[in-house]
Amino acid sequence: MDHDCTTTCVGCSTQLRLGDIQPEQLGDVTTYVCSSCGTAVVGVKRFKEDAEPRERGGFRLGDWVIGSKADIVIALPGAAKPMKLDARPGFFT
Ligand SMILES: [Zn+2]
Repeated sequence: MDHDCTTTCVGCSTQLRLGDIQPEQLGDVTTYVCSSCGTAVVGVKRFKEDAEPRERGGFRLGDWVIGSKADIVIALPGAAKPMKLDARPGFFT
């Protein structure tokens, strides 16, 4: 998550740069929390091969599963268009 990733807080509509947020470790999930209102907006955890498949539970990105309450926009270096990860609020349930 070192790229230029932005998302919008579902609690207060603040535009958040994930690189500016100090992530919190909650169990096996790394959580990005809005600095303005404290809402957890993005979660990242390690993909486990033996875990129950949960289609709506998050995006798989290599060894990681990413879930977010709002769309994440990732500006990839050299890419013409930013990549968008759709919101996966099921990750948090
Ligand atoms: Zn917020």
